[in-house]
Amino acid sequence: MNNCSIANCENSSDKTRLRIAIQKSGRLTEDTEKLFRNSGIKFAESHDHLLAHAENLPIDILRVRDDDIPGLIMDHVVDWGVVGQNVLEETMMQRKLDGLNIGYTEVMPLNYGDCRLSVAVPSENDWHGLSDLEGKKIATTYPFLLRRVLKERGISFKPVLLTGSVEVAPRAGLADAICDLVCTGATLQSNGLKEVETIYRSKAVLICRDQELYPEKKAIADLLVQRFKGIMAASESKYIMMNAPRAKLEAIRSILPGAENPSIIELEGDHERVALHVVSREKVFWETLEQLKSLGATSILVVPIEKMLD
Ligand code: ATP
Ligand code: ZN
Repeated sequence: MNNCSIANCENSSDKTRLRIAIQKSGRLTEDTEKLFRNSGIKFAESHDHLLAHAENLPIDILRVRDDDIPGLIMDHVVDWGVVGQNVLEETMMQRKLDGLNIGYTEVMPLNYGDCRLSVAVPSENDWHGLSDLEGKKIATTYPFLLRRVLKERGISFKPVLLTGSVEVAPRAGLADAICDLVCTGATLQSNGLKEVETIYRSKAVLICRDQELYPEKKAIADLLVQRFKGIMAASESKYIMMNAPRAKLEAIRSILPGAENPSIIELEGDHERVALHVVSREKVFWETLEQLKSLGATSILVVPIEKMLD
């Protein structure tokens, strides 16, 4: 394992190693590290080090707070970053106000980190719509995203900026309502709040700085994009196998979700039935398998796909 601190590794003129910022520890960390490992990037497990060199590819991973990632991209300190769209947009609005560069390019959306930014009020409150927030104190980590939405509706409010424990603000008498990230809603409920309006939906994105990458870095970036796409396509796809009556092939194909060009294989000594193999690019539900069975399919197997290269 090859690790070091930023002090002795930093080399902003490095033209060959792709530097990627990821969240050090939080809700995006596990999925991001899994995506990188599945793409064949080998890097140190330890989260104690700010910078980890990949052992097998010219890639350096910088582990930081998610809030710092858009700035690192926009200040051209790193080449790539993985961050939630919520943090990206909020930071852009803040930096615009501060007169800083807000340039970046989106490399690709990622299939994790889904959450929503919602307004919540004490459960016992009546709710008639966002206009109820006029003149109210709202605790949030995302004042710019909130202001953008409320301004569009002509609603003014008093932001109470909190970077954590936003959900306790109403009970603590700090605010009348909150605007916070929600996944299941359980945290809100346990704090006596109800979710009343979603103002923004977010997922993780891979972003790049707004400058041409050096050719060596571009080559590794292109390779990784291919691999990431392959992994994401594979995670949503399944390999389906079954034996089926030849006479029902059309009906079977019509109910298989996102299935293209199945392979039809003769079954030795059976002219009525064939084996059918197909890659389905969508989730396969039990209901579909039950329908296949009712059409006479047997030995139905649904197998996960690890990697995919089109
Ligand atoms: P850091 O210490 O890096 O600043 P944090 O506490 O700000 O971490 P996390 O709670 O780890 O951030 O969330 C990171 C990102 O994960 C969020 O900005 C959001 O894009 C995404 N996310 C996905 N699901 C959720 C969720 N249920 N609650 C909060 N954020 C979520
Ligand atoms: Zn954060």
